[in-house]
Amino acid sequence: MRLRPLFLALLACGVASATAYLPMAVDAQQTATGEGGQGGASRGRGRGADGAQPLPGQERGALIRRPGADREPQFPLPNIRDYKPHSTLVVPEHKVPRARYPVIDIHSHQPAPITQEQFDTLADSMGPLNLKILVNSSGVSGDRLVEALAAIKANRNRDRMVQFTTLDFRGPVAPGFGQKAARQLEADVKAGAVGIGELNKGFGLTVKKSDGSRLKIDDPELDPVWEAAGRLRIPVFIHTADPQEFFEEMNLKNERWLELALYPDRRWPAPPNPSFNDLMGERDRLFKRHPKTTFIAAHLGWHANDLGRLGKMFDEMPNVYSEVGAVLYDIGRQPRYAHDFFIKYQDRLLFGKDSYQPDEFPYYWRVFETTDEYFDYYRDYHAFWKLYGIGLPDQVLRKLYYQNALKLVPGLSRAGFP
Ligand SMILES: [Zn+2]
Repeated sequence: MRLRPLFLALLACGVASATAYLPMAVDAQQTATGEGGQGGASRGRGRGADGAQPLPGQERGALIRRPGADREPQFPLPNIRDYKPHSTLVVPEHKVPRARYPVIDIHSHQPAPITQEQFDTLADSMGPLNLKILVNSSGVSGDRLVEALAAIKANRNRDRMVQFTTLDFRGPVAPGFGQKAARQLEADVKAGAVGIGELNKGFGLTVKKSDGSRLKIDDPELDPVWEAAGRLRIPVFIHTADPQEFFEEMNLKNERWLELALYPDRRWPAPPNPSFNDLMGERDRLFKRHPKTTFIAAHLGWHANDLGRLGKMFDEMPNVYSEVGAVLYDIGRQPRYAHDFFIKYQDRLLFGKDSYQPDEFPYYWRVFETTDEYFDYYRDYHAFWKLYGIGLPDQVLRKLYYQNALKLVPGLSRAGFP
């Protein structure tokens, strides 16, 4: 007993070596694992020969501690943004610069109104990607909508963009807001708007009522709007909350630490903000209360990391659809589960990209169309991991890329779709 503290102290400074009893075994392990090297033999240690608890990191049942298990790097640790090792993995690669079928992007943010030069530039960049139609989900209403629609109509590419309207949340929501907004919606749809959206994350987080309280997503004040959308047969495109991690404590276990460090306006600590699940609860109650209204939940409803939850929503709410904008990092890290999910819910999923960056679309095509393994993603603060292709069959690709959008969004040109 009196020797034990000394024994532990020696262990802590890496001098004592129970493996001194078993030198050959240590050598064999080092050879087999390729670990160890200089000094390894002297540092490899067995479990306390006196029957003490396994050492930290030592698996139960292992007779010999893994050599080098207690080492620290000999050099300063790299910055997480600097450490970008190139992969040595050699596997078949199939880059997909052009989508296999023409695509409707339900979630595109474009100027409204757009200038003729801008539209020409945009259309030129769409061609090589096989992007056929962009839904401008930077919604505008009233006079500005009329201008936006006129600008689209005036262009030779007029069939390649449609325009959503939106709700004016710039001021607080006072009693009567819903009725008034529903009347404006009727006028906007008459003028040519083909949906409402994107209602952004401010709806639920920052939009206030006239009494100063937070406007909840399922506040009955807005019921006339959702009812009107159902009657007018236009979809409501709604972005609720943000990735779950944005509501969590910002620590080194948070998957989005880097993004939160880069973007202060993406931090939604709860409290004072409502929690992720508070917002999702409000959203789901809204969707259920208006079963005749079509809702498209943006960004896979922020459940791309929990597709079972999204599947349950689809099961319970037949009026709900979703789109894949800006969540490719989650789809591409679960190729088998995501594949099965996309097969099962093939009638409920639409293609959307969000930020219009022509260079980024091919990553989506590659994830959806190939079974490539372990390839780079395009944005380090979304994900520090690699992507895998989920290899969707043609029939599902067609639904995802354009058929479901043609079904939900009125007034899209069907020309050029197979
Ligand atoms: Zn958006």
